[in-house]
Amino acid sequence: MFANSQIEMTKSNKNTTQERDAVLIGAGIMSATLGIMLNQLLPNASIEVFERLDEVAAESSDAWNNAGTGHSALCELNYTPQLPDGSVAIDKAISIAEQFEVSKEFWAHLVEEGVLKDPSQFIRSVPHMSFVWGDENVSYLRKRYEAMQQHHLFKGMEYSEDHALLQQWIPLVMEGRASGQPVAATKMDIGTDVNFGALSRCLFDFLRKQPHFKLRLAHEVRDLERLPDGRWKIEVRNSTTKHKRTLIAKFVFIGAGGGALPLLEKSDIKEGKGFGGFPVSGQWLRCVNPDVIAKHEAKVYGKAAVGSPPMSVPHLDTRIIDGKKALLFGPYAGFSTKFLKNGSWLDLPASIKINNIRPMLAAGLDNLKLTKYLIDQVRQSPDDRIDALKEYVPMANKADWELEIAGQRVQVIKKDPVHGGILEFGTEVVSSADGSLSALLGASPGASTSVSIMLKLLQKCFPDQVKTEKWERKFKEMIPSYGRSLAKDAKLAGETRKKSSEVLGLHQLVEESIVH
Ligand SMILES: Cc1cc2nc3c(=O)[nH]c(=O)nc-3n(C[C@H](O)[C@H](O)[C@H](O)COP(=O)(O)OP(=O)(O)OC[C@H]3O[C@@H](n4cnc5c(N)ncnc54)[C@H](O)[C@@H]3O)c2cc1C
Repeated sequence: MFANSQIEMTKSNKNTTQERDAVLIGAGIMSATLGIMLNQLLPNASIEVFERLDEVAAESSDAWNNAGTGHSALCELNYTPQLPDGSVAIDKAISIAEQFEVSKEFWAHLVEEGVLKDPSQFIRSVPHMSFVWGDENVSYLRKRYEAMQQHHLFKGMEYSEDHALLQQWIPLVMEGRASGQPVAATKMDIGTDVNFGALSRCLFDFLRKQPHFKLRLAHEVRDLERLPDGRWKIEVRNSTTKHKRTLIAKFVFIGAGGGALPLLEKSDIKEGKGFGGFPVSGQWLRCVNPDVIAKHEAKVYGKAAVGSPPMSVPHLDTRIIDGKKALLFGPYAGFSTKFLKNGSWLDLPASIKINNIRPMLAAGLDNLKLTKYLIDQVRQSPDDRIDALKEYVPMANKADWELEIAGQRVQVIKKDPVHGGILEFGTEVVSSADGSLSALLGASPGASTSVSIMLKLLQKCFPDQVKTEKWERKFKEMIPSYGRSLAKDAKLAGETRKKSSEVLGLHQLVEESIVH
């Protein structure tokens, strides 16, 4: 697609209809990542980004709208399920850890290129820990640790059941805890906190200065139509002037976060039929007491309650936002029919179409536990929320914590031959067969794996260019491990991680795995 890229203008009778090589809808981390990649691969391509809000990354990618965890499966227990035979599966954890290494490689390349000036603006080292209590959970965590320490990507993980050591690692979590309670934790010092909002803004700051790139804030994409020649006609409305504008694009990326499903439906591509969305809103408790914030220095992930969905895993997180240390606990889930935090209550009902009603009903019936969980969460009082916090911070004081509204997640519902429809908790790239349009649905593991997601998208939409020597060379410059497996090649993974940590100013791995 647009191999011989150049900017063309075609004139209609009255208005000027501009043609772009690529239009990216939404200015979150996904469009920022794809925009930079396209800019590196095709510096002369004309790219225009439309964002309905008047600032970049103000939805899910904003720092306070997500947890900022550099998801690399170092601490998230939902990536390592216990199998019926009692063993712990780590395949998904390996895949996520590998994808996060790829993200770090790309960000390190952008720092070296001068695209990103100061990595500490968007990424910092914060130990990643898992913490559990009760005999059954302790036994699970021990098995998980034993399985994970066999793999080079989890080298350096520490494990302890010792109250005294855990008191040193996580004083806030241990103070006031019964001394006889069986507890266990793992700790990985190479964990990270990522400000995806700051990262998106840095990427767009660079892109805005490029000659063939335009970012239009306060511009909402209202409609999409495929032209007989395969290009796309896009209708955009300027929310300030209320003017409508039409432009033509050879390639469209719908990176509209929660707003992606309605636009995919408007594109009418056959590959997008049958998809539905289930919105889940979130809330955090944010600590406002500097003494309490100063006492904690980790992202501590616990175990989700039985029957609750993966996004409900409670965690107590050190965050570093705009250079300032912060502390949050959550998420508490909720139900809202909005697909975006700044969306409309009509989003969910308007997304129901003849082609997705069956999968949506089937997924609803199959997920009654989730519905019950959400109803319970919505009914929680402030005291209930503090009780949940006290499981992690036994001495928590209600006056030190304030409620914050997090971003909206729209979980993907898709057709399933057996169940009629299933609810998914991951991300899904949906592309037209000719590769001229691609949409990203879903929310998890999300921003941390944005680089791998966009590489996959480029492979789907630009299959011929991806195979050329020119693109392959460029990919290897952007991501030196490109085409090789960090999960299988321990030496490569070690070298890659060391280089990324050096360039990004992150903690370097020194210790071997340790049991205390
Ligand atoms: C509560 C919560 C916690 C999370 N925690 C983590 C975490 O710890 N680590 C992690 O890696 N990921 C996390 N995620 C996921 C991560 O935030 C998302 O995967 C990521 O931000 C998605 O980026 P995006 O660019 O697709 O969407 P967004 O950042 O939402 O950007 C989409 C943009 O599109 C715009 N838009 C929508 N419709 C239109 C339209 N019609 N026209 C023009 N513009 C439009 C929106 O205004 C928005 O700015 C979390 C998400 C949530 C909600």
